[in-house]
Amino acid sequence: MCDRCDHRLSVGFAPSRRGLLLGASAMLMSGIARAKENKKPPKPQNVVSPDAALARLKQGNERYIEGVTRRHDFAHEREALASGQNPYAAILSCADSRIAPEYAFDAGRGDLFVCRLAGNFANAESVASLEYAVSVLATPLILVLGHDACGAVDATIKSLKDNTTLPGHLPSLVEGLAPAVKAVSGQTGDVLAQAIKQNVIDAVAKLKSAAPILSAAVDQGKLNVAGGVYRLRSGKVDMVA
Ligand SMILES: [Zn+2]
Repeated sequence: MCDRCDHRLSVGFAPSRRGLLLGASAMLMSGIARAKENKKPPKPQNVVSPDAALARLKQGNERYIEGVTRRHDFAHEREALASGQNPYAAILSCADSRIAPEYAFDAGRGDLFVCRLAGNFANAESVASLEYAVSVLATPLILVLGHDACGAVDATIKSLKDNTTLPGHLPSLVEGLAPAVKAVSGQTGDVLAQAIKQNVIDAVAKLKSAAPILSAAVDQGKLNVAGGVYRLRSGKVDMVA
């Protein structure tokens, strides 16, 4: 994270008698207010509504599919972003190397705040990261991004079906993905595809209702949470939530 982020967080979470009384949420909001007073957005074109942010992601994905991605001015972007960031969308994506959100949405540096973990489910750390994006960086959109043939979802299906425990820390992925897999277990057809879609839908619902920060931003119309599945063959992101 950049120096600016560290500063903002340190302002938001600096221990004080008043802060202790207000609680962590109020402390964070206090830090945001002070940070915003001092800061112009480094990318003014990223100050958009939730609907405009989603439209921009879709337009970027169309360019990616057609192979007409924009040329990105890395030198100019580096200069603009040296003092801060204001991404127009946050992405909760699988860690799968074939997805690459910046490519899939033809986005530049400073455009997407990307949280990645195998299975793209909303755990405490990913929710906290997205709370930072929304409350400190004023990001108006979160997109949960699953994908075809997700190995983490597939391993969870097999682990639950065979009643086996995976080695190392892998059971934590199974724990995070099990609710979606169990929810579609009675359905016929492609169970993996259904579980991938259900997992995205579940994460969207969890993020929308995550109190106090994300749920409040949704209620105030400052944030939209959407979900999509990336198609490995075409590169298209099909919206599912
Ligand atoms: Zn995956």
